[in-house]
Amino acid sequence: MYNDIDLTKIDLTQNAPAEEPQRQYYFIAKARELIRERSRQTGRPLTACIKTFGCQMNARDSEKLRGILEMIGYEHSESEEADFVLYNTCTVRENANLKVYGHLGYLSGLKKKNPQMIIALCGCMMQEAEVVDKIQKSYRFVDLVFGTHNIFKFAELLVTSLESSRMVVDLWKDTDKIVEDLPTDRTYSFKSGVNIMFGCNNFCSYCIVPYVRGRERSRKPEDIIREIKDLVKDGVVEVMLLGQNVNSYGKNLEEPITFAQLLRQVEQIEGLERIRFMTSHPKDLSEELIKVMRQSKKICRHLHLPLQSGSTPILKKMNRRYTKEQYLDLAARIREAMPDIAITTDIIVGFPGETEEDFQETLDVVRRVRYDSAFTFIYSRRTGTPAAVMENQVPEDVVKDRFNRLLALVQDISKEMSLKVQGQTLPVLVESVNEQDSALVTGRLSNNLLVHFPGGRELIGKIVNVYLKECKGFYYIGEYVPDAGEGSRSGSDEASAR
Ligand code: SF4
Repeated sequence: MYNDIDLTKIDLTQNAPAEEPQRQYYFIAKARELIRERSRQTGRPLTACIKTFGCQMNARDSEKLRGILEMIGYEHSESEEADFVLYNTCTVRENANLKVYGHLGYLSGLKKKNPQMIIALCGCMMQEAEVVDKIQKSYRFVDLVFGTHNIFKFAELLVTSLESSRMVVDLWKDTDKIVEDLPTDRTYSFKSGVNIMFGCNNFCSYCIVPYVRGRERSRKPEDIIREIKDLVKDGVVEVMLLGQNVNSYGKNLEEPITFAQLLRQVEQIEGLERIRFMTSHPKDLSEELIKVMRQSKKICRHLHLPLQSGSTPILKKMNRRYTKEQYLDLAARIREAMPDIAITTDIIVGFPGETEEDFQETLDVVRRVRYDSAFTFIYSRRTGTPAAVMENQVPEDVVKDRFNRLLALVQDISKEMSLKVQGQTLPVLVESVNEQDSALVTGRLSNNLLVHFPGGRELIGKIVNVYLKECKGFYYIGEYVPDAGEGSRSGSDEASAR
């Protein structure tokens, strides 16, 4: 575990070891010396700020980067008026890039005031050659640029940057490398994301992710189990297993195992109370996984199952590799196996060539699956993807009209689905004090619904029973029900709490 590493024992007069993660600990120790000297000169501790754009995978990467900065000796800051600022970027939509360029303008002003300031960029956007070209030409005040494949090398790159006055750029096209046991600094004490795999091989025609996150590579199950055991020792009760497509976990391992088999192993970890995972791809979701979820005591009763479109011809153009009927059949089997499960989804409106008939197919799936909630997106043309050059891009006003019709239907059904648990007493993992009313705390049911109820901050991180008094559409107002067995409830323990 990285907390046992004693940096003072690392001999910096020797060359850096080749082996990872020892090599990175060598550079963490080296960076620490350089930062200590800078701090002595400025007469104050140096601060570091990480701004994260995009998905949960990026958020988990930022926790690792923050852990390394902390071990180097930087103090964490929420403000960009810091000595070190890192943007962990997203590029899923064209306008995500524009947002980052806008922010960089602001940073260049701060750097004029603090010339010692270091500005760094990483994440998916940096995996695009034309972006890095633009940074090197028009944003010369940036000090360090790296990508999604060599995040583990951050400390080494930081030392290179601290020791040179030119911009350091280190980008890898792809990798099969996974480096374990690097420091992390979690956002929450009681829950954590856990990467189980990186990259994606699906190449959905509208998606840039496979081009910036590379080919699928799974972590070894023993490394994942060890990480989760350490997290539980450290107070974590809930984990979110993360991957672009968790259902293809394990395929590239020397000893391949399935995602369902991994879940069975995670379930055995004592002290872990809840297991969540995302994202699932319908084409790979197995009967074995449905069985493991149904039998599980810890896997939460929520499944995110992106549909994207309900029209088989559009699904074909999207390269999703399932049909409307296959998706409906899968959803029906899941609901039959777990009647109390919440199913949520992602839907794109206005994909090139989408007709009113295609759109009606999407509405039909929404009516038949009855999603607990859905993320609805207007198709966004993404340069570098096959869909961006497809003909029959749908006119904006038509897309907007469809988007509004879809949203109205999704919200109506979601409200009805939320009512399913009204009047029940169910386990809630308390996550925070309510932002609007400090007399309330906020938490999540196993099915991911939000619940607000009167309670103190001492409940944060605990799983407690809450009577679901009033449904407010997409969340509940509840009442805390103290109970002798408190804290021992698990992800799928709904039935027994009734
Ligand atoms: S499954 Fe498709 S949408 Fe999801 S990350 Fe992979 S290519 Fe993108």
